[in-house]
Amino acid sequence: MKTTEPVIPIKSSSEPPHVIAPDATTIFAARAQRFDQLAAGHSLGDWLRFLAAITRAQHEALQALPTPALPDATQLARSREHRMPPLPAQSWPRDPAWHASLRQIAAAIAGAAPQAARLDLARLGGFDAGRIEALAERVLHTELYGEDAALLPYVAAALQVLWTASAARLGGSQIAALDVPGVCPCCGFLPVASVVRGGGEVGNLRYLHCALCNTEWNLVRVKCSSCDATEGISYRHLETDSVKAAGAVRAETCEACKSYLKIVYAEKDAVDPVADDLATLALDILVDEAGYSRSGPNLLLVPGG
Ligand SMILES: [Zn+2]
Ligand SMILES: [Zn+2]
Repeated sequence: MKTTEPVIPIKSSSEPPHVIAPDATTIFAARAQRFDQLAAGHSLGDWLRFLAAITRAQHEALQALPTPALPDATQLARSREHRMPPLPAQSWPRDPAWHASLRQIAAAIAGAAPQAARLDLARLGGFDAGRIEALAERVLHTELYGEDAALLPYVAAALQVLWTASAARLGGSQIAALDVPGVCPCCGFLPVASVVRGGGEVGNLRYLHCALCNTEWNLVRVKCSSCDATEGISYRHLETDSVKAAGAVRAETCEACKSYLKIVYAEKDAVDPVADDLATLALDILVDEAGYSRSGPNLLLVPGG
């Protein structure tokens, strides 16, 4: 039996956007503030404050980055036609300017870094461009383990700057929804978490948040972002004071594929999916012990580190 294409109505301007590009002028500065806020009274406060320093350095590096080159109109049209991300993490020819961002971030955080991190940064500073690119390949292919894994968050921080600047310049309206709803429609990378925002234009809609380029895209609620299942979805959270302070963060678990991803409810606080995720590592431990594995990475975290 032949089916016809569904008629897609033209969206009215009041309809919330499917894809929201990051704001290059505020994304990292706001995240740094959130890390500082979450660090107060937290058992991992020193580490969260160091992450605030890294994120503040990302903000400075992004402002200093030369305007990134984008795919031309033909390439963008082809991406839309084939429903492919226009800035694919694994194959987009990345501007070597990100190496300068990495050096800038490393220099900015050296003073705030704990001893072990200072040694890591010094070692990273001795790497030539080829070795740095090899680390970038591991980040972009989510191979976040093995030798030198402790160096990967710094490399990832600089790659986030390049991809975020590029995604911001491209803008959400240039990007079509993909057939695979669980990967970023801008860069094809995995989400770090999802966010439900309380008010305004996107009231109570759930958006997945890209771990690499900070683009957000809409996904209906109560649906597994990894396997599309809508049954067997449940939510787990911690009942502790530190989590209350961290805002409402839950783990959305899926019985079909045994994966989970956190969902951050932004009802009152100015939450941030990356920062709120790292302030609730106890929830990862709980869900991991219950037999679920995480479906998207947080690139500022060294797994097992
Ligand atoms: Zn992305
Ligand atoms: Zn699933």
